[in-house]
Amino acid sequence: MNATLPPGLYIVATPIGNLSDLSPRAADILARADLIAVEDSRVTARLLRHIGARRPMLPYHDHNADRVRPALIARMQAEAVALVSDAGTPLVSDPGYKLVRDARAAGIAVTTVPGPCAAVAALTLAGLPTDRFLFLGFLPSKAGARAAAIAEVAAVRATLLLYESGPRLAACLAALAEGLGEREAAVAREISKRFEETVTGTLGILAARYAEAPPKGEIVIVVAPPGEAEPAALADVDAALVEALARLSVSRAAAEVAERLGLPRRQVYERALALK
Ligand code: SAM
Repeated sequence: MNATLPPGLYIVATPIGNLSDLSPRAADILARADLIAVEDSRVTARLLRHIGARRPMLPYHDHNADRVRPALIARMQAEAVALVSDAGTPLVSDPGYKLVRDARAAGIAVTTVPGPCAAVAALTLAGLPTDRFLFLGFLPSKAGARAAAIAEVAAVRATLLLYESGPRLAACLAALAEGLGEREAAVAREISKRFEETVTGTLGILAARYAEAPPKGEIVIVVAPPGEAEPAALADVDAALVEALARLSVSRAAAEVAERLGLPRRQVYERALALK
């Protein structure tokens, strides 16, 4: 247990709330690392106290990463350097990928210690399809950029996972309802903590609920994929095609409508030919 760790970079996932979720292997690596690169040393100090360890820490965050990275890489040649974030899996909406990239380029061994991740935890709570999912991290906070980011993924046939803060939750849900339509969704809040809750409903209903009472705490939004092309959607396809065919060739009109409605291009093309 106390033997020296081989030199290299160790990516260590830490709890997203409940400290008991720290894996024994993560605790072992942290207790034996020569150095721990941290987001906030106060947060990691609390985790280290929980496992009865004291290790040297070095801040590594968005504001100093470019400056600090070369020295960290140099130390990994001879020492075991662990990377943690304040909560969850480093590199997921947190710093770290450039550290891994540069460590690999320098021929340094990279080891990961998998563990909690809020996005995956929320996916397991939502009761929505899990076979394909797309992690979007935090959407832009400005309305225009947020709407554009949502439009970009409207046709993607996957469950969507987003991080959001309490004060912005209602506006984000309303923008999702506007850009994606009335899809089923879930809001998973304070996962693994005392006030954990998961609320499900359509995007519009959830937006209205949280507009009245903005929630506290940390939040993941999970949104269902677009529905299968239902018979009712055929009228929408036809209307969109009639409009597009007035401006565009059959193939361009079909491509535009297929993308907008999230439908297979060939199916829409055949319908466009029939309408022409
Ligand atoms: N790297 C982390 C991970 O693996 O989940 C995510 C870091 S990101 C900076 C922090 C965001 O993750 C929060 O704003 C929130 O959206 C989400 N999050 C973190 N902990 C959470 C929790 N216990 N419950 C719900 N969401 C959480």
